[in-house]
Amino acid sequence: MFIEQPPLLYRLFFPGAYWREKVEGKKTIYLTFDDGPIPDITPWVLDLLDKYNIKATFFCVGDNVRKYPDIYNMVLDRGHRVGNHTFNHVQGIRKFSKRYLENTKLASEYIESELFRPPHGHMRIPQFFTLRKYYKIIMWDVVTRDYSKRQTPEKVFQNVKRYTRDGSIIVFHDSLKAEKNMKYALPRSIEWLKEQGYTFELL
Ligand SMILES: [Zn+2]
Repeated sequence: MFIEQPPLLYRLFFPGAYWREKVEGKKTIYLTFDDGPIPDITPWVLDLLDKYNIKATFFCVGDNVRKYPDIYNMVLDRGHRVGNHTFNHVQGIRKFSKRYLENTKLASEYIESELFRPPHGHMRIPQFFTLRKYYKIIMWDVVTRDYSKRQTPEKVFQNVKRYTRDGSIIVFHDSLKAEKNMKYALPRSIEWLKEQGYTFELL
């Protein structure tokens, strides 16, 4: 469960980052999609969101935006928000800070946004404090684990039902790795979240 819902202690390492955002007077959640945009998956997600008239935030990999500008523009044209997810999906912890920040800067040439989400949810503390000067750092309250081969589609849907609470920022992936789990769990999760009375907000 430490993966699906990051513990408080972990959150304290990144002061000022966004994990969960409650809104006075309504039950709110935020759908986010990482690792796109790609032609095989992202349009499918966009059509589904349109069907429910839901807006979401897409944390894009800069190199995908470079390769598929039409898909990227489709995300924007449909009224969604985008965020920076580095250019090559680099892990902060494995990179020296200078290279990590350069990779993020390169992505910013393709993705115009004040939002940043670190790939794999971690980065070195100095990287965090530098990026925080330029970006709202968006982490999450629930990661569905749709990307994991060890999860069944049903289990991914259960993760949403088990861990979502008022203000949750929820992570799905518009990636090939997540395709099977996401395509099963996302529509069911949307239906379930609506039944629970959640409204879908943008970050
Ligand atoms: Zn990612």
